[in-house]
Amino acid sequence: MPDQVNFGDELVSPDEKTRRVGKVFSSVARRYDLMNDLMSGGMHRLWKDRFVHRVKPRPGEQILDMAGGTGDVAFRMAARGARVTAADINADMLEVGKERAKRRGLTGLTWKVENAEALSFADATFDAYTIVFGIRNVTDIPAALREAHRVLKRGGRFYCMEFSSSEWPGFSTLYETYASKVIPRVGKAVAHDEDSYRYLVESIRRFPRPAAFKAMVADAGFVRAAAEPMLGGLVTIHSGWKI
Ligand code: SAM
Repeated sequence: MPDQVNFGDELVSPDEKTRRVGKVFSSVARRYDLMNDLMSGGMHRLWKDRFVHRVKPRPGEQILDMAGGTGDVAFRMAARGARVTAADINADMLEVGKERAKRRGLTGLTWKVENAEALSFADATFDAYTIVFGIRNVTDIPAALREAHRVLKRGGRFYCMEFSSSEWPGFSTLYETYASKVIPRVGKAVAHDEDSYRYLVESIRRFPRPAAFKAMVADAGFVRAAAEPMLGGLVTIHSGWKI
């Protein structure tokens, strides 16, 4: 782990990054779902549907939805009968998720505060591990991937969805302009929090390209590591298998 890591475009100590990421998500938690719809034009719902379709949760399977936030992905997997643990480092995000689950009458989900870099679960606990728009916020990504591998059973599946804007050549300039100028302004107007949305944009830009992240997944011990661009390549589903 280097002494200095990126918090968006700024270099800070690893502890400071974890602290600041916590502040960002505590600050946006109550407006997170509305902002997701506004920033993606509702596309995030489609991406999450496609993602869960790829994971193919089966009834009774134990699935860890890491960085589960307000529960969007966990709800979709639980609806298919999986036993889902939604885990996140941020209690404020999970609190919003619990309230949403209650309003929808969803039971059977487990909510747990966990740091993806150092999980409290025993080895070989889960059939699948999912992380959606979460891993780019994690300070020590290789540590999180090693933990994902550890808590999966043999034959367990790893699935991660992240933005891949840098692989989107025709639109990269347009996207950059939209991301750096429009998103923070929408954040300011709707969530009264320009800085947090600026961080979200910068963190997307700094996330490794799909080929580089695929290599990191393989380094953590997963076999058949794959990076699959989705719906125009704006997001990528990464997967791997534990044998
Ligand atoms: N997966 C949800 C979704 O797609 O709607 C939430 C994604 S949100 C952009 C990113 C989440 O990552 C936040 O809830 C944040 O608290 C969580 N996070 C950041 N660092 C983390 C870490 N080290 N361990 C666990 N969760 C983390």
